[in-house]
Amino acid sequence: MTENSVYDVIIIGGGPAGLTAGLYAARARLNVLLLEQMGFGGQLLTYEKVDNYPGFPEGIGAFGLAELISAQALRFGLQVRNAEVLSLDLTDKIKTIILADSVLRARTVILATGAAPNKLGVKGETELTGRGVSYCAVCDAPFYRDQEVAVVGGGDTAIEEAVYLTKFAAKVHVVHRRERLRATPVIQEKAFDNEKISFILCSVVTEIQGSRQGVCGLELRDTRDSAVSVLPVSGVFMFVGIKPNSKIIPPVVERDEAGFICTDKEMATSVPGVFAAGDIRVKALRQIVTAVGDGATAAFNAGRYIESNF
Ligand code: NAP
Repeated sequence: MTENSVYDVIIIGGGPAGLTAGLYAARARLNVLLLEQMGFGGQLLTYEKVDNYPGFPEGIGAFGLAELISAQALRFGLQVRNAEVLSLDLTDKIKTIILADSVLRARTVILATGAAPNKLGVKGETELTGRGVSYCAVCDAPFYRDQEVAVVGGGDTAIEEAVYLTKFAAKVHVVHRRERLRATPVIQEKAFDNEKISFILCSVVTEIQGSRQGVCGLELRDTRDSAVSVLPVSGVFMFVGIKPNSKIIPPVVERDEAGFICTDKEMATSVPGVFAAGDIRVKALRQIVTAVGDGATAAFNAGRYIESNF
């Protein structure tokens, strides 16, 4: 392919959704390029183990699963490029993708840029990120061997990561703003059975305390009686939901109020020839298994769109 050629499909994002779109598009003999700015796997790489992806009765390491999916896509001829997309022009029939060193063109685009962890937005969070405030247990848990840490949030990510952290930390305090956790019961049960985990419910973090040496505590407010207390911990892991990676996505692509992309059941967005797959789109169940389904559907419908329009 020369820089002036037009790809059938350009996929932006190399997580499970993007890689599976690449696998299906390449296997359908479309001329397809996947752009990824980091490594293959997306958010998968921030987890240790995947327990609910079919076909692996004992679970599978997250990194290993990302490698398997990418190897399968590459076997069918998916072209990949390690590059950051700076901007997109999706208004014309041929779409334009601007990289730092080149301009690419494609008949269809599949947006699979995924999502990233939310910040809590409290005093101390920004200053102490990397000095005790973390958004990735797999990345940072080994720094907290035999220490006390806190996890903020009550969803699947928070509770699964709290369990993971007990492999290293002496004690993991889960701080959740409500009386009930949001996480799936099977995930909750694992945490309730773990003696190293304690739950501080109906409590919100009002400040992260620390210095250049690191975090030393969390100021908490009990939502029932407004009592303020300090929880001494040397690390805090934030898992308070996700936000879409939508910085490069132009306003012409319709989104919901939180910024996730609206699609129909064919993964088509409001812009003809532009599809979305995985965590970036509006959906009820954000899982690897639904991301790969989205990717396959988006690639299939990108192929159909090309057949009818070119
Ligand atoms: P999530 O389900 O949106 O949960 C976010 C948690 O953070 C909730 O407990 C929420 O409290 C809390 N929270 C949000 N904003 C807060 C704030 N400002 N202050 C304090 N607490 C706050 O997010 P997630 O756990 O990252 O999961 C994202 C998606 O991935 C979900 O669809 C989840 O099912 C999926 N996932 C699945 C698995 C799995 O199946 N193994 C693993 C990880 C993630 P409230 O409960 O009060 O709203």
